[in-house]
Amino acid sequence: MSKKGTDIVKTDIKELIALLNKAFADEWLAYYQYWIGARVVKGLTQQAITAELNEHAAEELEHAQKLADRIIQLGGTPILHPGEFGQFANCSYMAPKDPNSKTILEQNIKGERCAIGVYDKILSIVKDKDEITYDLILSILKDEVEHESDLLFLLDNLK
Ligand code: FE
Ligand code: FE
Ligand code: MG
Repeated sequence: MSKKGTDIVKTDIKELIALLNKAFADEWLAYYQYWIGARVVKGLTQQAITAELNEHAAEELEHAQKLADRIIQLGGTPILHPGEFGQFANCSYMAPKDPNSKTILEQNIKGERCAIGVYDKILSIVKDKDEITYDLILSILKDEVEHESDLLFLLDNLK
């Protein structure tokens, strides 16, 4: 049975689901990068950095949840196997092999900049075509912009 909620989407739904699934993979990798980074980080102001990384991890997981819900609402299936995250992701995963707080912050800033680019692109694709996805992606983009600022602030304080 057709669904009015998806009938109103004025863009290719399959392509949209594929884009959202790629972002979904990014979010899981970002979540893990923050989560593990919060645990291995060493150096000055370690506590403040750990707290921020943990907070961001939780927010990335929320992003993953919101994307999965929208993918399902559109009739798609979120990536079912975590082994596929690396293959589908837009942004590369940067393992925190160097626990130095400066290095970890710089890696996460890189990740946020990639995410900002990805969401900005999705916004331009769904603009005037799918208001629901637009609203969702805009809310995620706001968080990613905040994440970049927060990390830059912490990095500045190390210098
Ligand atoms: Fe995110
Ligand atoms: Fe983020
Ligand atoms: Mg923050």
